[in-house]
Amino acid sequence: MAALRAESRIIIVGSGVFGISTALWLARSGYKDVTVLDMQDTASAAYDPLSGIDSASADLNKIIRFSYGSEIEYQRLATEAAGMWDEWNREIAVVPADELPERLREGERKLWWNSGMLRMSSETELDDFEITTLENMHREGIREFQFRSDDEADIARAKERGWAHKLDPCCRQERFGTHKAVLDSTAGFVYAYKSCSWAQHLARQAGVKMILDPMRGRVADIITKDGHPVVVTADGLELSADLVVVAGGGWTPSLIPEVQGLLETTAGSVANVHIPKDRFDLWDRFAPENQPVITWGSRQGKDVYSLPRDRNGVFKIGWRNTKWTNFQDVGGRRISVPKTAHVTDQKETRIPINALNGIKEFITINFPELVPLGISSTRLCWYTDSIDNSFVVDFVPGRPGVAVCSGGSGHGFKFLPILGREVVKILEGKGEQTVYGRMWRWRSSTEAKRNGLEEGEQGPRVLAKQNMAEQGDWRFTV
Ligand SMILES: Cc1cc2nc3c(=O)[nH]c(=O)nc-3n(C[C@H](O)[C@H](O)[C@H](O)COP(=O)(O)OP(=O)(O)OC[C@H]3O[C@@H](n4cnc5c(N)ncnc54)[C@H](O)[C@@H]3O)c2cc1C
Repeated sequence: MAALRAESRIIIVGSGVFGISTALWLARSGYKDVTVLDMQDTASAAYDPLSGIDSASADLNKIIRFSYGSEIEYQRLATEAAGMWDEWNREIAVVPADELPERLREGERKLWWNSGMLRMSSETELDDFEITTLENMHREGIREFQFRSDDEADIARAKERGWAHKLDPCCRQERFGTHKAVLDSTAGFVYAYKSCSWAQHLARQAGVKMILDPMRGRVADIITKDGHPVVVTADGLELSADLVVVAGGGWTPSLIPEVQGLLETTAGSVANVHIPKDRFDLWDRFAPENQPVITWGSRQGKDVYSLPRDRNGVFKIGWRNTKWTNFQDVGGRRISVPKTAHVTDQKETRIPINALNGIKEFITINFPELVPLGISSTRLCWYTDSIDNSFVVDFVPGRPGVAVCSGGSGHGFKFLPILGREVVKILEGKGEQTVYGRMWRWRSSTEAKRNGLEEGEQGPRVLAKQNMAEQGDWRFTV
């Protein structure tokens, strides 16, 4: 592909985290003709899943963490992103309301909440990942912000710094006689829909054009004409470009089938508990001021997480133990595709019963006071996993001017403010000279285990093979 010029016509498919961050950084880097296409009107609905937007990015909240075990490059990028989240908090707080998109004027003008994150063991010891993470944090000079629940010096430091009340919010020590956990006081969460809306607002301000429409914004095909990529939209228009970046989240493998074997569309399972405002005891306990993000038994067969309640009382819990696949015919191939609540032909709001039971177990053991409330809603959240859980940002072999930007593998959101900075370098052809360009390049693997991608349709994670939880299952049997 010819080198990019300031006037190059660049089309980005997808206005989720990967697409919007790329658009923002391209515009800020001086590219003047950047257009984002999306089949969903993420602007009017402000990425709100309750207003009918289905994507990994369109969610209530997401975890911001810096603990990455031995993956020090992600730890460093997340730490750099943290400074930008702080900056965005400062900016959004002072923008006059009439300059903001309508939905960003509602509620607190704050995207990122430093609530802390408590990584709780479900066993009587911390796992190896925790120990490695603590060692890395020590090496990077940030160990002092981590507090072990069983370390006297850490507990004393947590008290001094006002974090002690978040060391054991489930009263595990008192109830079970043991509590092994690490509180990361640098971590927390962001309101996801608001953060994407803010990034989209910044991208527009920087000159990015948006076509967010079920017909004009839906990319039906990407073809090559006269050596240029051409995007064909659902209404039959052909948009010629110098560069097309496909950031279609869970829809990426259906648009670019070449990624099969490298990327796979899978779903995580999420459930909400609604805490009523008049339950003052619970309302305060589950507020971000008192409740950290929690992960439980991450590498011990449980793999559940929860986030503090929002201003409407929604307490979100996710089950990461198994990610589901959904294989369909796409252009003659069997490819896993999203099956969401609104936007796909097949609709799904249920989650598999195994996932619901994992979430109920988490509540029963750790928050028994929520049992009488029951589950209030469930959702499958579709993302793209890569063979090694690392992102994929590179040109598609054999397709001039077409790049893919995806493979968030369940941890991409926290990089929203910074991801595009690294993507631009790759699109400019400098990927091999950067750490992230080398990590995110097009690749293959001959390992027997490839993050579950080796299973395909024969594997046990296929959604059609699961018993799905119905509303009647949301109640707890005591
Ligand atoms: C359950 C769950 C929990 C997660 N938790 C965290 C977390 O706590 N912390 C964290 O950092 N990350 C987390 N992630 C990961 C993070 O959400 C993703 O990495 C990130 O949002 C992916 O963004 P994306 O832009 O690749 O895809 P998406 O957000 O899915 O966006 C893709 C967009 O492309 C559009 N599109 C698709 N096909 C077409 C087409 N043909 N034409 C036009 N538009 C199209 C879609 O409409 C959509 O808007 C989680 C993900 C899930 C699913």
